[in-house]
Amino acid sequence: MSGDVLAITEHRQGELRDVSFELITAGRQLADDQGGDLHLAVIGGDVDTFASELNRESVDTIFTVAAGEEFNHDTYTQITEQLYAEVEPDALLLPNSVNGLDYAPAIAGRLDVPLVTDAISLSRADGTLEVAREMYGSKVETTVTVDADTAAVSIRPAEWEITEGEGQGDAEVRSFDADIDESAVKSTVTGFEEVAGGDVDISEANFLVSIGRGIEEEDNLPLIKDLVEATDATLSSSRPIVDNGWLPKNRQVGQSGKVVTPDVYLAIGISGAVQHVAGMKGSDTIVAINTDSNAPIMDLADYAIVDDLFDVVPQLIEAFE
Ligand SMILES: Cc1cc2nc3c(=O)[nH]c(=O)nc-3n(C[C@H](O)[C@H](O)[C@H](O)COP(=O)(O)OP(=O)(O)OC[C@H]3O[C@@H](n4cnc5c(N)ncnc54)[C@H](O)[C@@H]3O)c2cc1C
Repeated sequence: MSGDVLAITEHRQGELRDVSFELITAGRQLADDQGGDLHLAVIGGDVDTFASELNRESVDTIFTVAAGEEFNHDTYTQITEQLYAEVEPDALLLPNSVNGLDYAPAIAGRLDVPLVTDAISLSRADGTLEVAREMYGSKVETTVTVDADTAAVSIRPAEWEITEGEGQGDAEVRSFDADIDESAVKSTVTGFEEVAGGDVDISEANFLVSIGRGIEEEDNLPLIKDLVEATDATLSSSRPIVDNGWLPKNRQVGQSGKVVTPDVYLAIGISGAVQHVAGMKGSDTIVAINTDSNAPIMDLADYAIVDDLFDVVPQLIEAFE
């Protein structure tokens, strides 16, 4: 056992995604547990710029692999397989993202290693890899004990801290020449298109005003929009608001929506069901407005206003204006 960890980072449209820096945090912890090195790989895009952005003290090696601009299932799978053969890690980490989940099963199949998806923590104790994940709609947390020397694990975004730092690391940056079998490349990325209403990415917002079923009806949306305007925030919601068609799907926070990590998350009339909490528990400061002091959101809230939102919101608008 080398103890080494290989983590494959992710970028989109010329920018590294937050999960890439979360992979550094998760990967370093595991590499320390295993007594090995942390190797990162960045595949495609402006690999040199990405490598300097990823160069943190906690990283030992960064492999840069020139391979087109955006993610491609077939090239990522082939390259990851070759990087794995080069590094021979005891754990391969990938993001549990749309892209990560696209090729993680393929790579695990090719390498004949177990795959544990959607990890929320991981460690190696007494030589055994243990991965925590949630089940039954996040109602139960389980620990998976991996009965193999090496495994692939996809990590849930926003579960680990982002490893900060501006190019201060001294990781060895190695250009890796992958041998791509072009005849096996069966998919092509022809363009990138945001889903309808994709002008706003709530996962990038610093201040989210988020609404739930407590707002009662669509006619009450203008009141909330006034608050959004007064606070210069971004509007998001729980699932029932989207299911009712009051806001587009890209505004939904939660297990089947988006994972968000704003500085401030203002939850208005949201109960805090586990499926919702899965998407917002990484927020820095959580403020809840709810008539029910026993609502589950109260267990998470840093500040709570136990009152009727229709009384509180107009006062907030006035105060901010
Ligand atoms: C497979 C699956 C996936 C799911 N994915 C998601 C997901 O991604 N995101 C998500 O959000 N949900 C998701 N859900 C739904 C989830 O289980 C809850 O039903 C949902 O989050 C509840 O939304 P809510 O808090 O807005 O509504 P409710 O649970 O109805 O809560 C409304 C809250 O508003 C408060 N309230 C009422 N009136 C007022 C008032 N006048 N002033 C102040 N407070 C008031 C109430 O006290 C209550 O706490 C999923 C469910 C399943 C089964």
